[in-house]
Amino acid sequence: MLVAPDLTIRHAGGFLLQLLPGALDEEIDRLEKNVGAMQSVTQMLERGLSLEDMMNLALDGFAPQVLDEQEVRYFCDCSRERMERALLSLGKEELEALAEQDDVAEVCCQFCDKKHRIPLKGLLRQLEESKRKNGK
Ligand SMILES: [Zn+2]
Repeated sequence: MLVAPDLTIRHAGGFLLQLLPGALDEEIDRLEKNVGAMQSVTQMLERGLSLEDMMNLALDGFAPQVLDEQEVRYFCDCSRERMERALLSLGKEELEALAEQDDVAEVCCQFCDKKHRIPLKGLLRQLEESKRKNGK
């Protein structure tokens, strides 16, 4: 991360290279040499290098191809349904114990801090119904 004198962030970045099974020692050596010769990502960004420029430096000698590009953004796809599934995975006894303490479970997503309020009685009914359907 490169911080400007006014304390704003000028550049921040990083990259990830992952070896696939079957990578040869000489390929690994080459990658290590390439990466070792590179400046830090923030220095390269400051010099105006593009992501593709950096990829070509890291993968010099490998003839890389860009297969897909995606915009990256902060996004969490948590949902009430997902939280319900997580609660259901606790099992009947644990859910009943929770329902005795409170009618509603407040589940906080660890990624985005969104709070989901889930009525426990409905969830227990759902559990009973799915057990009946599955013949358990
Ligand atoms: Zn979330």
